[in-house]
Amino acid sequence: MMRLPRFRYYGPRTVAEAAGILADEGPSAMVVAGGTDLYPNMKRRHQTPKTLVGLRRVEALNGVSGATAAGGRGMSSGGRRGRSGGLRIGAGTTLADLERHAGLRDLYPGLHEAIRTISTPVLRNMGTIGGNICLDTRCNYYDQTWEWRRAINFCMKCDGDTCWVAPGSDLCLAVSSSDSAPMLCALGARFRLVSRRGTRTIAAPDLFRRDGIRYLTKRPDEILTAIDLPPADGWRSAYRKLRRREAFDFPVLGVAACLRFDGEIVAEARLWLGAVSMAPLEALEAQSALVGRPLGRDTMEEAARLAYPIAKPMDNTDFSLRWRKEMTRHFVLEALSACRP
Ligand SMILES: Cc1cc2nc3c(=O)[nH]c(=O)nc-3n(C[C@H](O)[C@H](O)[C@H](O)COP(=O)(O)OP(=O)(O)OC[C@H]3O[C@@H](n4cnc5c(N)ncnc54)[C@H](O)[C@@H]3O)c2cc1C
Repeated sequence: MMRLPRFRYYGPRTVAEAAGILADEGPSAMVVAGGTDLYPNMKRRHQTPKTLVGLRRVEALNGVSGATAAGGRGMSSGGRRGRSGGLRIGAGTTLADLERHAGLRDLYPGLHEAIRTISTPVLRNMGTIGGNICLDTRCNYYDQTWEWRRAINFCMKCDGDTCWVAPGSDLCLAVSSSDSAPMLCALGARFRLVSRRGTRTIAAPDLFRRDGIRYLTKRPDEILTAIDLPPADGWRSAYRKLRRREAFDFPVLGVAACLRFDGEIVAEARLWLGAVSMAPLEALEAQSALVGRPLGRDTMEEAARLAYPIAKPMDNTDFSLRWRKEMTRHFVLEALSACRP
């Protein structure tokens, strides 16, 4: 049986109190929300914080608010047009609560689908959206017990020097495996970060860094407190995920699409790929190819062709990397088709 290492636990009731503890304790402290990622990591000695700051009792981090929160009568998953403000989601809101949220389901079907596919119903009762966004990167040479890792003399991400996926690499290639991250980038979400030094709000893509070790730009003393979703008016969104088991599994490819139409014509397009790099990737050329055209088969196929080269999966997750790369075309086609008016 794997046991947790020793740590001191604080259970603050306010964000200010939590931020104060993090500032006082320094980088040896971490926050824990649902613990569905962090506790297994601690058992495998990936992370060994001396202090944990639990966020579960911080009421201000829970819940969804905003003009659309109560109604859910705006844009449906079928994409009817409706008027709405944006949504603010507390970072400590559980995935299960978000899955049940009618406004989120109706207005942001892509995000709802991404959340619905994360882990299992039991884990979604504990796991939070904030924890999912800040999820540790994953790799076959890292997500192993301490003894397994010692047998290969560890790896660059933890306790060692070599990246076993690409031994010549100076960068750790562990994979961004959050389902919500690419979708939040595509939706144009913004993240609110709070520390004792103050509050700042950043665009979702600015949180992620293409470095498997330092995969977030967030400072250790910063707490993600909220996710702001812009109004969904006129936007249609979809998420498609490749994984071995439909029941539960981390993504080995995630495609997040978000399109706004002017009649039959695509007026704006956002297409992001998850789980094929150390951070979510924006498919810029594919986006451009979609804009100004009706979303017919030819247009979607061209976008899929242009998205394909940017997916450069490494041999460090499930399935063969060639097949995962090939699947990019198919999943882009599926995600775009799901956005059709
Ligand atoms: C069997 C299994 C299957 C899983 N499948 C999936 C899957 O398919 N897709 C997927 O995306 N995830 C999956 N997960 C991972 C995990 O369950 C989810 O990502 C979950 O949302 C993590 O949330 P949490 O609240 O439990 O995070 P925690 O474990 O509490 O924290 C995770 C990380 O985020 C940091 N953190 C948490 N909250 C904050 C905050 N508010 N501010 C700053 N930092 C914060 C923590 O310090 C830690 O580094 C799986 C996990 C398991 C065990």
